[in-house]
Amino acid sequence: MPQTQTPEQFSIPAIERQQETARQSALASAAILDTAPEPAFDAITRLAAEYFRADTVLLGFADQSRVWIKSYWGEAVRELPRTGSIFERVLAQGGPVVVPNIADDPALAGDRMRLRRLEIASFASVPVRSSAGEILGNLTIFGIEPRRKMVLDELRMLESLAEMVANQLELRRLRHAIGSSGPRPGPNDRKTSSVWPRRPDLRRALDQRQFVLYYQPEVELTTRKIVGLEALIRWVHPDRGVVSPIDFIPAAEECGMILPIGDWGLAEACNQIQKWCVEDLRNRSLRVCVNLSARQFAREGLADHVEALLRQFGIFSRQLGLEMTESSLITDAHTAMEVLGSLRRLGVSLLMDDFGTGYSSLHHLHSFPFDVLKIDRSFVVRITDGEQPLQIVRTIIDLARALGMNVVAEGIETQEQYALLQQLGCRYGQGYLFARPMPAEDVSKLLRLPERQLPDPLPASDLPN
Ligand code: C2E
Ligand code: MG
Ligand code: MG
Repeated sequence: MPQTQTPEQFSIPAIERQQETARQSALASAAILDTAPEPAFDAITRLAAEYFRADTVLLGFADQSRVWIKSYWGEAVRELPRTGSIFERVLAQGGPVVVPNIADDPALAGDRMRLRRLEIASFASVPVRSSAGEILGNLTIFGIEPRRKMVLDELRMLESLAEMVANQLELRRLRHAIGSSGPRPGPNDRKTSSVWPRRPDLRRALDQRQFVLYYQPEVELTTRKIVGLEALIRWVHPDRGVVSPIDFIPAAEECGMILPIGDWGLAEACNQIQKWCVEDLRNRSLRVCVNLSARQFAREGLADHVEALLRQFGIFSRQLGLEMTESSLITDAHTAMEVLGSLRRLGVSLLMDDFGTGYSSLHHLHSFPFDVLKIDRSFVVRITDGEQPLQIVRTIIDLARALGMNVVAEGIETQEQYALLQQLGCRYGQGYLFARPMPAEDVSKLLRLPERQLPDPLPASDLPN
């Protein structure tokens, strides 16, 4: 006589089938299996290997039958059968799986032989999810020694790295959706060869001292104390009024005038640092940051030039910071790396500007010696839009912390963004909510505030322009 099935027995496989279909369609929309490897993935597996001192790290995405390895650290692996794999364990668990000693673990079927052959004794694996929460793949660290139990913080870090993978997928999907094939063009990328200003206009402006530096305070978020300033160039044009750098830096880069303009900016900022120190010795603790363009990095003598300026103005290297975007580094990554190394040895701070807008941010973050990561304004603006954008900022902050870097959030305009960033543990920020870029004399007034503490901010809309 056939056995009667209870409704539960019917419904469980149906739900699993449904879940698998949803998972496969999320995988298809991530379009990850047949694409070229993302450099950011390699950065993530490498980070995981170094952070956890793991012997092998695998990042894979699973279809119905296989786990496709998209990045590995250690032994080269391209794909694995899905049956009996660690991925299946993660999927069944619906979350992380930590096995400190596989000898004690009876449930590993397919992978056990391989793991034994590799003398792997322990592993921890976390899911990589789609934006809707489907488990697309897993990030796994393996050790040849049995591991002590993973503490919660460590597991959280591994999950953050898996979230970073998910964010890269999401960023890629967005890029495809808006039909762009590269990073958002920054002020340094625009092509402006045929429009104003041309080289003679820029030359004249420099000779006639029409450039000025404005400064925007950078604050410690919990106290609102000014800890630094970012120098932002303006062109005070006799007819056109105050011209934004967005409207002339790209042209200056293209015609080469960026080199003398950049030299002027560096010297002017150093001069101003000295003046603020004369006004009040306590201002020595401030760091003034100057933006540098790609062409300035292609000069091997940049570090010598900076050193000479520090000596000329009698300021400490820690009083100066240099900001650069990823795109300015990839033009000539080799020279950039050498120049950054010399600047680092000199003791000036190196800040990665506009973080998150480049193609493979993580890759550069890991390979270049930055002290500070500045989260691009576009992320800060979206932070109040929901869980996904918030998560991106949270993982950037976690990652920077794991790499021993400080984080500055750019473009804070609302109380809500301010509160959320504090909750996420972001230490520093700048934005119209606290202060707009302003002439040096106005900064001097702010620096005279008790404790250099800015007042409780008004919403940006109530602030004067
Ligand atoms: P950046 O280095 O990312 O500078 C931040 C920009 O965001 C500044 O624009 C600043 O005024 C603006 N900003 C700050 N807080 C807020 C906010 O709350 N809301 C909004 N909407 N914007 C905010 P700015 O001064 O127009 O500079 C634009 C870009 O031009 C800079 O971006 C930097 O890449 C470049 N730049 C500025 N000065 C120099 C320079 O001396 N040399 C070079 N090479 N580039 C420069
Ligand atoms: Mg900047
Ligand atoms: Mg920026």
